[in-house]
Amino acid sequence: MKNKSAFGPWQLASNTTALLVTLFLLVTANLAFWKNYFSIMPVQDFSSLAFAVAIVSIITGLIGMVLGLFGFKYVLKPAFALLAILAAAAAHFMDRYGVIVDRHALQSVFETDVREGSEWLSWRMLIYFLLIAGIPILFLWRTDIQYRPWPRELLARLGYFGLCLTMILLPAGLMYQSIASLARNHPEIRHQINPYNVLMAGRNYINHSVNIAPDKITELGADAKKGALYNSKKPKLLVIVIGESARAESFSLNGYARQTNPLLGKRNLFNFKNVSSCGTNTATSLPCMFSNLGRDGYDEKQAGGQENLIDVIRHSGLFLEWEDNNTGSKGIANRIEQADMSKLESGNRLCSEKGCYDAVFFKHLEDEFKEHPGDMVLVFHQIGSHGPAYFERYPKEFEKFKPACQTGELQDCSREEVLNAYDNTILYTDYVLDGIIQRLQEKQDSHDVAMLYVSDHGESTGEKGLYLHGTPFLFAPSQQTHVPMFLWASDGFLKNRGTQANCLRSRLGNTYSHDNFFHSVLGLLNLKTAVYDKEQDVFGHCGSNT
Ligand SMILES: [Zn+2]
Repeated sequence: MKNKSAFGPWQLASNTTALLVTLFLLVTANLAFWKNYFSIMPVQDFSSLAFAVAIVSIITGLIGMVLGLFGFKYVLKPAFALLAILAAAAAHFMDRYGVIVDRHALQSVFETDVREGSEWLSWRMLIYFLLIAGIPILFLWRTDIQYRPWPRELLARLGYFGLCLTMILLPAGLMYQSIASLARNHPEIRHQINPYNVLMAGRNYINHSVNIAPDKITELGADAKKGALYNSKKPKLLVIVIGESARAESFSLNGYARQTNPLLGKRNLFNFKNVSSCGTNTATSLPCMFSNLGRDGYDEKQAGGQENLIDVIRHSGLFLEWEDNNTGSKGIANRIEQADMSKLESGNRLCSEKGCYDAVFFKHLEDEFKEHPGDMVLVFHQIGSHGPAYFERYPKEFEKFKPACQTGELQDCSREEVLNAYDNTILYTDYVLDGIIQRLQEKQDSHDVAMLYVSDHGESTGEKGLYLHGTPFLFAPSQQTHVPMFLWASDGFLKNRGTQANCLRSRLGNTYSHDNFFHSVLGLLNLKTAVYDKEQDVFGHCGSNT
């Protein structure tokens, strides 16, 4: 017989244990849910109070069901401990960054490299682990779980599930209309029920990954040929820059009150002011914008199973290379040469163990010019404004907006400090893009040169309580979906291509999206292929693509 004290070991039935852990997580791991719920539905009178009670009952039943699934001998303790750890991690991200826990969020976590991942680890996260996971683990450790002989245990389990189901179905039945309208108007809220959201996201992620591996890649645009532009003597140089987490509203080019584009502002650019992204994270936007599927037709599996814009350019015979200073091309550049610049030259003053500043591309660009004197397309995938450690994206001398947040733990900074750090990343991007243009300009006597810039998605810096990006597209704020896009081209490039600058200028305010990217690049490069659609080419109406 063991000694019993106030610290256990307690003897509890498996159902009681599940219920206690459920109630603990209901309170501690679901702050984001309750905060969101009570801001949508404040308790003001009897009916709103009754509705709140119904919601508490449903959420308790739901978490209780999740835990109940693992309430068996030998499984219960490790499973509950693991669920508590997952719940603690999810709670940290939801409370601190307003993250929505869904398949895409898990994808971002799993497909992130270690350098990026280390920016997430913090003492505040440790406190979340100690409180939300540590307390239940301690409790489980000090508890002797009493399992009855199996027929009675089975009955007790059935009773437990019956109770959970009643807690969900009874209020749901009574208040069906109100609950349906809450779920319809605030679809994010079901992704905030912790750890139910983690399990659903995990299930969806696994389903998705299993279904996604393509057997073979379908060809796209194998008929691509160079158009009349290539009859002129000058070789063509196009640099396509894919921005990272840069949002349109923070560019002074687009009317931002702060001077974040002191250099680009002096350039003669074709700046498209109303462009929206395909997704709100890199893993969606990047394959989507390089595909010809468009946002409505985009499907990760389909896009992964067919060639993309990179391949179409490759089929035309143009030399092209993917230059990455981010976390890779997400598979889209698998069939061409890729350079990973985030780990280039350890002695380079632009690089550290945290990665490289984007200006690392300059030297690389100059080297490519020397190696490839003919036609060339380079795709530069920036680290840009990658959060949360904005301050690590630019050298100190670019810290113009102060005080700037000096940590990846954005909650430790005021909103103003976060915004300052973010704006400094845009200021640095201004310098990097201007530097690329300058290097292209130096080649304009011998080459037709151009640079096309577009960001993959935007970023939230505390608007509506959201930080970073990845909010599901349907209810993402404009900060995450309105992206900067512009073209710089030498006079020779425009002239040889037959581009009417005034015509193009008159279209800069039109509404465009990543859907236009695929066709616009083909148009800009004057490549002929059946997969090109002139209607979707933003340059298509202002000079022939023949
Ligand atoms: Zn991104």
